[in-house]
Amino acid sequence: MNEFIEQRVSLTWQQPKKSYDVVIIGGGGHGLAAAYYLATRHGITNVAVLERSYIGGGNSGRNTTIIRSNYGIPEAVRFYQRSVDLYATLEAETDRWVMHKEKGMIGLAHSEANMRVEKARAAVNTAFGAKTDWIGPDEVKKMCPELDMTGGGHYPVVGAAYHHSGATARHDRVVWAFAEGAMKRGAHVHQRIEVTGLQIAGNRVTGVQTTQGDIAAGAVLCAVGGHVTSVAAMAGLRLPIRTHQLQAFVTNHYERTFAPILSSGPLLFYVSQTARGEMLMGAEIDRQPSYSYRSDYKFLQGCAFRAVTLLPFLRNLQVLRQWTGVCDMSPDYSPIMGQTGVEGFYITTGWGTWGFKAIPASGEQLAAAISTGKTPDLIAPFSLDRFALDRTMADRGSAGTH
Ligand SMILES: Cc1cc2nc3c(=O)[nH]c(=O)nc-3n(C[C@H](O)[C@H](O)[C@H](O)COP(=O)(O)OP(=O)(O)OC[C@H]3O[C@@H](n4cnc5c(N)ncnc54)[C@H](O)[C@@H]3O)c2cc1C
Repeated sequence: MNEFIEQRVSLTWQQPKKSYDVVIIGGGGHGLAAAYYLATRHGITNVAVLERSYIGGGNSGRNTTIIRSNYGIPEAVRFYQRSVDLYATLEAETDRWVMHKEKGMIGLAHSEANMRVEKARAAVNTAFGAKTDWIGPDEVKKMCPELDMTGGGHYPVVGAAYHHSGATARHDRVVWAFAEGAMKRGAHVHQRIEVTGLQIAGNRVTGVQTTQGDIAAGAVLCAVGGHVTSVAAMAGLRLPIRTHQLQAFVTNHYERTFAPILSSGPLLFYVSQTARGEMLMGAEIDRQPSYSYRSDYKFLQGCAFRAVTLLPFLRNLQVLRQWTGVCDMSPDYSPIMGQTGVEGFYITTGWGTWGFKAIPASGEQLAAAISTGKTPDLIAPFSLDRFALDRTMADRGSAGTH
């Protein structure tokens, strides 16, 4: 948290109480959005968000800010479309400029097989409310004149799925907007408090142990990103989640406007331009599970090579910053939201490389689940017990980075 934010955004810090109706572990986008929606939609304000570092210091402040709903299965398209819609009205609702901008997203196809996949996905997207059209090479070139349509001679662009509502928003502003909105209504957000254990009586969670003492809670939501397996283990739960590194980088300013979000599945690469004109790029996760936040040259080299294959102008730019987050990957590449089998203990996880776009809908839906004790229809398919029931929600091709 810097002085600029302290002055612009009205965040009111309180002393922790001994007891809350709801304790949320993790001050990333998901935890703060849940607090915001508990307050604004359900009038539940006796809520604490406990963040061991600073709010937005996890993946919510490290991502490449892409918002979209062009997923591969109907349940996911519906869920992410809800989030896209909530993002579209977030500035009006919170009265904070989160720099939300609809840009459109071009998902390139480089082969016939690829074309079939993208066309099928466009049809599913459109059928479930996420307008996506198949466009030919000429239209792709018109939308993105910088593209080398031969793909360096190896990856010819044969067309693309154009997802109209692809957008970006400034990630830290999203976090602060939700934090401010929740705090204004009476929720507490505590930085530098780490949850070290859970209090369980019988099969019910009754509170948390923290670095600043015990706090009783009627319900606990675990929203800790890549650290979920260790917190869930405190409740005796073994989750089907592995944590992997994901890196990204930005270049210096590109003087022309690069309008769309561009991605290539086969080249495992995507790019957009920030409001400062920097070219922001990301790629796939590191295959080796890890909690390390260290960035490496191998990633930069591989991603930059693939980027210039499609966009030769990037050769003339310089890399300004590179960074890493640790992602909570589920086996079916879909999120896990809701109850856990331990009464009063909820989780939101499996956000992997794609959870920034989900922040508003996940917050909204979990707030509803916690306040009513019932799982809303929109997130019911993403419950933890789907793995035991053999009802996985396989959506691997939609992650954009695999
Ligand atoms: C490089 C990169 C690029 C990405 N790009 C995109 C993208 O373009 N679009 C997209 O939709 N998604 C993207 N993602 C994924 C997205 O950032 C995450 O899925 C999302 O931010 C997860 O939010 P969260 O609130 O669950 O977790 P986080 O933001 O990680 O927050 C979890 C918080 O919990 C805290 N915590 C952990 N343990 C404890 C504890 N014991 N006690 C208290 N606090 C604790 C952590 O300090 C952290 O602040 C990207 C991720 C990375 C790393």
